[in-house]
Amino acid sequence: MNATTGTTGSTASTTSTDRPRVTVTTSWDDGHVLDPRLAALLDRHRIPGTFYIAPRNLELSPAERLPAVGIRELAERFEIGGHTLTHQRLPRLTDAAAAAEIRSGRAELEAITGRPVTSFCYPRGEYTARQVHLVEQAGFTLARTVRRGSLTPGRALELDTTVNAYAHRVDGPLALRLAAGRPWRAARLFLSWDELAIHWFDRCLREGGVYHLWGHSWEVDARGDWSRLERVLAHIAGHPQVAYRTNGELLGLAA
Ligand SMILES: [Zn+2]
Repeated sequence: MNATTGTTGSTASTTSTDRPRVTVTTSWDDGHVLDPRLAALLDRHRIPGTFYIAPRNLELSPAERLPAVGIRELAERFEIGGHTLTHQRLPRLTDAAAAAEIRSGRAELEAITGRPVTSFCYPRGEYTARQVHLVEQAGFTLARTVRRGSLTPGRALELDTTVNAYAHRVDGPLALRLAAGRPWRAARLFLSWDELAIHWFDRCLREGGVYHLWGHSWEVDARGDWSRLERVLAHIAGHPQVAYRTNGELLGLAA
């Protein structure tokens, strides 16, 4: 492939020699006191990430919430993204209340970090079409959902992901499909999200695309999955042909 022919378009699947065809990004939700432990793992493997933080998350006790000093420290090495102020389920709110949650969460994070916050994540992945506009009106240029199983980012304000660091029961049929009908292989993919995460990465290396791993530090901890996470990070790290990006840096790749 002649590099000079790859001058137009900038997609993840380009095969020009001067542009990587595989992009890896990670994101971590909620703003939990265990986030720095997860960040240290990302650091060790030189993998960037976006931490979506609801600074007054009502689903966490005050002691579980990452304090402002912790958010500020994360912001020095990672992207910080909005996740509403109190982690509300947006479709249950009026437009005015949803807009206030989205905007005030962003304002608080910007006050804490002193940096612009331009990526957003819908709490629990729940949102309506109107709320996509509210997120955009609040100044966000990118927003992540919880949809999995994609190697393309999709729309910038409804970003798809590849794999969650969590064993979902609904992954059974998907595992069988991915394993091309081989039951033993499917069982391994079904039982271990780390197997599934590695399977998706290897496929992304072959086919090109954007590989997006996401999760929650508290969930990794609660399920005793730190070594699984470390195994996945070690597997996806350090590939010279891969571009490692924050979520916000996907903007040029999203539709
Ligand atoms: Zn969340």
